Amino acid sequence: KKLKFGKSKPNRYVLVTLATIGCGKTTTSVGLANLFPELIEHIQNDNIQSPGKDKLVLAALEVLSRKPVVIMDKNNHKTVERKQIFDGFQRLNSTIPKSKLKFICLNFLQKPPKGDTELWNITKERVYNRGDSHQSIKVEKDGIGNAEKIMRGFISRFQPLNTSVEPDCNFDYIVELDAHQENSSLENMKKIVTALQNYIEDLDLKTPSETDYLKAFEKAKLYKPTFSKKISATKRKPVYFAIDVPQKEIIMNLLSTFNIDFFNRLIKGRRVQQDFHVTLVHSAMRKQNDMKRECWDTYSNIFKSDISSFADTKINIPQNKRCLLSGEYSADIKLEKVVWDSKVMCIQVKIVGFHLREKPVGLPCGIDFSHLTIGTIDKSFPPVLSGVMLKHLYGSDEKEKSKIQEIKLSEEIVFTRLPLYVFMN
Ligand code: GDP
Ligand code: MG
Repeated sequence: KKLKFGKSKPNRYVLVTLATIGCGKTTTSVGLANLFPELIEHIQNDNIQSPGKDKLVLAALEVLSRKPVVIMDKNNHKTVERKQIFDGFQRLNSTIPKSKLKFICLNFLQKPPKGDTELWNITKERVYNRGDSHQSIKVEKDGIGNAEKIMRGFISRFQPLNTSVEPDCNFDYIVELDAHQENSSLENMKKIVTALQNYIEDLDLKTPSETDYLKAFEKAKLYKPTFSKKISATKRKPVYFAIDVPQKEIIMNLLSTFNIDFFNRLIKGRRVQQDFHVTLVHSAMRKQNDMKRECWDTYSNIFKSDISSFADTKINIPQNKRCLLSGEYSADIKLEKVVWDSKVMCIQVKIVGFHLREKPVGLPCGIDFSHLTIGTIDKSFPPVLSGVMLKHLYGSDEKEKSKIQEIKLSEEIVFTRLPLYVFMN
């Protein structure tokens, strides 16, 4: 039946998508917003960096203070997510009278996606072609295997719409869509406009011409997000563990007293490392021998217990590439000598000891000659050249040795209680 509402206090419409990945939620939504920029605005979960159940609802309410229609673009594939939306509006909406707030479901799936090979093929193909043009699923960077795993997860968790029970009974209206055909998003745009025209009286939705539709659809297909979502640490992989050395300024001052030409060139060329650290073990070392593998496992177990405690206490799972191990581990180091050749400069250090809280603790180091890289002269030289240089310095190849220079540090320079961190890709 057609609903009637007053003109002075028009309704507000929340369009909620229900789908899996690649069904064309974003394309359909962007297309509609292209057609009716004054009336419809699109917000998407993928543009929200850290999970927080109210964020999308708050964004929707902000839109509704300006426009009558908002599309909440998210898979909403589980009933609990739909419930979160209704609950969120209930709690957070203080401006729109409840009777004026209407929820419309955009139901992209007419049958459960599990076992629907036709849907799987079309959505997989689309996600594949989308490439890296997505906030967090980067097919070119991370491979289609990763994307398929994420897609399968959504499909297996999917809970279909059931309007006879909570929470789906709270929808005022359902628009039935489909994602199976070649131009499904174009068809879906038309279906939504027609449905809204039939259902809503207080919105002046002019019927777009075929060309308008096509233009909006083509433009929507070219949509590229400007925002890139960082993946949480649980999906990140550790690359190396290291001792953080925040005394960069002290070290730079010390080095400048020697007036080493190579050091001056590093500064001029802006080739000094951003953050100073002493690597303890690198993931690439795991394959070298059992001892290094064990060393890697030791640190990764510390980190894993960190992650699980993050999850337990609901503290933010770290989003950064660089993440301190739980503050209780630390290391003391002593600076021994400055070493450089024509490519790289480092300070060889001695790890004096590790601590767990205030107690000394034995922790391994997978690096043969511990050091802190100051910088390499060209970006084509990786910092790992420090280790290669030190191996030569203590090796028997006289020719290699002759290329290396060193200055022993006579003063005792010790930094204590330095935090340990993990660097992730
Ligand atoms: P979402 O994950 O549900 O938001 O899906 P997207 O809207 O991002 O669509 C996935 C990919 O398929 C994108 O690269 C779109 O450009 C493309 N796409 C979306 N709808 C259609 C359609 O109807 N036809 C074609 N050929 N491609 C589409
Ligand atoms: Mg999307």
